[in-house]
Amino acid sequence: MTDKPILPGSWLGLLGGGQLGRMFAQAAATMGYRVCVLEPDPNAPAAVVAEKHICAPYTDEKALEELASLCPAVTTEFENVPAQALEFLASKGVRTSPCANAVRVTQDRFDEKSFIRSALCPVAPHLLILSDHDCEEVTPDYFPAILKTARLGYDGKGQITVNDKRELLSAFEKLGRVRCVLEKRLPLFKEVSVIAARNRKGEVSVYPVCENYHRNGILAVSIMPARVDEESAKNARAIAERIINKLDYVGVLCTELFVLANGQLVANELAPRPHNSGHATIDACVCSQYEQQVRAMADLPLGSSEQISKSVMLNLLGDLWFDENEEIREPHWESVLDIPGLKLHLYGKKQPRHGRKMGHITCIASSEEEAMFKAQMAARLLG
Ligand code: ADP
Ligand code: MG
Repeated sequence: MTDKPILPGSWLGLLGGGQLGRMFAQAAATMGYRVCVLEPDPNAPAAVVAEKHICAPYTDEKALEELASLCPAVTTEFENVPAQALEFLASKGVRTSPCANAVRVTQDRFDEKSFIRSALCPVAPHLLILSDHDCEEVTPDYFPAILKTARLGYDGKGQITVNDKRELLSAFEKLGRVRCVLEKRLPLFKEVSVIAARNRKGEVSVYPVCENYHRNGILAVSIMPARVDEESAKNARAIAERIINKLDYVGVLCTELFVLANGQLVANELAPRPHNSGHATIDACVCSQYEQQVRAMADLPLGSSEQISKSVMLNLLGDLWFDENEEIREPHWESVLDIPGLKLHLYGKKQPRHGRKMGHITCIASSEEEAMFKAQMAARLLG
């Protein structure tokens, strides 16, 4: 397809108003674009920085029409945006990236795994579970396993570890007997992610691999580049590239992978948007994942994904805003901001809550050890 580029000064639309959208809106504004956000929450992180905010549900046709009349291109910032909303926008001639089909595939864990397999990439052994009968049929070699709801799971929610058939039946009941995937529990050596971008011309840009650590199911620390051998890094990036091409995807896509104890790589899930593990691309790469999202949706050449500083990113959860008496306080910003090479990003969320992503810190340095040292110092000062 040879769409003319959408040049700076034009409007770009965004479905969703979270922090990923906020950083997208900031990158777009830096490049001279005007951003219009469709988002039901009046105080959403992206809504308050965008030039225009249509405050309505994502499925509101009048709101979508208004967005379509203003914006020649629309993107999204969370995976559960209704695919129909993207379809509706596309029917009005809007260039949507990602397209409804890509979003639909990534919204269902079973379809997602089937798709990844069709791109000849390895996935964990898994089964579709739709009924108690399906649970009964599972052979003992599948356990221990994780039962995951096929839809709407995130940050480890909607998942239960099961060790046998009895536990599986009760977990299935607990998850409301909704469509589920049963996945064999694998021996993980590391969890990594690869962010890639693709434009309509089919140009692809792949970032260095990130190494990720979660706490209570939520990403806590992300190290770029990942501390894995060169071969694994190369293979992980090749898998991400194969997937983004096979999906005929336009925009930014994150592929989460497991590195197993035996060195094998397994693709776990896809996120059709910039990813939490890629926040460090803002401060550590030539072109951030958010600028890349702007370039991809506007049919411009992609930027360089080259990493110019080593980085360690720390998520800042709402927990840091509570003292030992559960009273709300402001973290000690002055002391952490004294660390050289530390960049503070806050999302403007007024109400801290335990587990709520309030911001992140990126520590950059010329060596991996130094970046890690700074991050550890920051964590201590904040903790
Ligand atoms: P979410 O959408 O909640 O991120 P994931 O599928 O990524 O769901 O699972 C959350 C976490 O659970 C992963 O980051 C990983 O630590 C662990 N996990 C998921 N699947 C497996 C598996 N098959 N084997 C071992 N650990 C797993
Ligand atoms: Mg995940």
